[in-house]
Amino acid sequence: MSSDTSRATWFKGGTEPCRPVSPSTRRFNLILLGAPGVGKGTQAALLSERLGACQLSTGDLFRAARTLPACDRTPAVTTAIEAMQRGELVSDDTVIALVRERSVCLRCHGGFLLDGFPRTVAQARALDDILAGEGVGLDAVVSYELPIEDVVRRIGGRRVCPGCKAVYHVEAQPPVVAGICNGCGQVLEQRSDDRPGAVRVRMEAYARSTMPLTDYYAARGLLVRVPADGEPDAIYDRTMDALVRMPVSVRR
Ligand code: AMP
Repeated sequence: MSSDTSRATWFKGGTEPCRPVSPSTRRFNLILLGAPGVGKGTQAALLSERLGACQLSTGDLFRAARTLPACDRTPAVTTAIEAMQRGELVSDDTVIALVRERSVCLRCHGGFLLDGFPRTVAQARALDDILAGEGVGLDAVVSYELPIEDVVRRIGGRRVCPGCKAVYHVEAQPPVVAGICNGCGQVLEQRSDDRPGAVRVRMEAYARSTMPLTDYYAARGLLVRVPADGEPDAIYDRTMDALVRMPVSVRR
């Protein structure tokens, strides 16, 4: 998450004011696509920090909702959390309603990085409407791509800190003391949807529902494919090399 944006509007709903972001000279409005475990969240955080664009992750919204006491969850949110824990997609209606409530975030003056939305063609069509309503254009849709075996290895070893949300990998990026967060000392956890059964369901959902989105956006000249192998900084550089060659979106 960018150090200079609170994302209060995204997490708490459209009327909550965010702290201002400090935009880079060129504002980017981007969608990030990629199978679970491909490193999309890491790239979103880097892009947010370096470009000043606001990271709008629907997965983060559902994870935040999970920490609400049961009495504060609406029935739709409870159903969404259950679907998420099984590794399934949350219904289009629920996700679209959440994003629609937060459509003001798409006018964030630092630009935006949609991370995990849209995930189906129905969501992509709804997003087209929402963007048109806000008078905002898209600059590019970045698709992070990696062979499936690499993806499975990455997800299986991923551990997260429940306190500060830092992300580790048991082999590629281990903490100094096994199982303990370097930053805040809490015991690291495996996300419930990173467990083997849920991972298989998520990969199937990705192949069936989200991969068709690459055709949807390629047909409009917006798709940028980025190989997601290597270190985060190398992937970031590849992303920026591709993005600076894209034309600036027509609507602002
Ligand atoms: P992520 O962190 O993006 O992998 O999202 C975690 C989980 O949240 C997914 O496995 C889904 O259960 C749910 N989710 C997040 N975004 C969406 C979306 N756009 N459509 C449906 N389900 C979603």
